[in-house]
Amino acid sequence: MSIKDNILYFDEQLRQSPCRLVAVSKTHPVEVIKEAYDAGHRLFGENKVQELVEKYALLPHDIAWHLIGHLQTNKVKYIAEFIDTIESVDSLKLLVEINKRAEMYGRTLPINCMLQISIADEETKYGMSCEEADALLQSVEYRSMEYVRITGVMGIATNTPHEGKLRQEFRQLRSCFMYLKEKFFVGNDDFREISMGMTSDWKIAVEEGSTMIRVGSGIFGARDYSKK
Ligand SMILES: *Cc1c(COP(=O)(O)O)cnc(C)c1O
Repeated sequence: MSIKDNILYFDEQLRQSPCRLVAVSKTHPVEVIKEAYDAGHRLFGENKVQELVEKYALLPHDIAWHLIGHLQTNKVKYIAEFIDTIESVDSLKLLVEINKRAEMYGRTLPINCMLQISIADEETKYGMSCEEADALLQSVEYRSMEYVRITGVMGIATNTPHEGKLRQEFRQLRSCFMYLKEKFFVGNDDFREISMGMTSDWKIAVEEGSTMIRVGSGIFGARDYSKK
């Protein structure tokens, strides 16, 4: 299947669903991304700041870019001008910096931010507990921010073929979303995204209420890190 076919396949699969597709283009060159773009796709995800900045410069500017990888505070300045959504916000300190840089660039639209919640077994994976996300949203600092908009939560499940385990982790993320929604965002439609599901588990994630799946190899093929 070509990249275009893959995009059309996901369009078809998600047609009846509120879920959207983030095409994860990390490690793939701009020519390849252009194929997905030409098939009509406009929502792409990258996990590294430098790679994202390079690709942003070379591709049409009606693409909505999502940063999905860990973001260091000192790199926020490189993406603040153009980024649509930062899915990997994992601390108040980072959010403070994002707000500051968005203000400095005089953005007309706030930067959409999602709180990354750790749901997997692996301790190495970034993300906050739901309690930490709760504390962030209660903080005085967050409450005074004008240049960020919290649009939901994001999570990366354990890399496992066990469906029961995946469902349990996706449910954990969804309950965290519901808890935060009830507590901080009643009647506020900004907070509506649950970003979960990748190539191997997106169908299960959609069944468990995902509103945003992040698919890389399922669209662009396997990644060859040795070329980098
Ligand atoms: C790479 C990546 C994906 C996509 O992974 P695939 O298995 O290729 O679909 C999704 N989310 C995050 C955070 C990633 O880093």
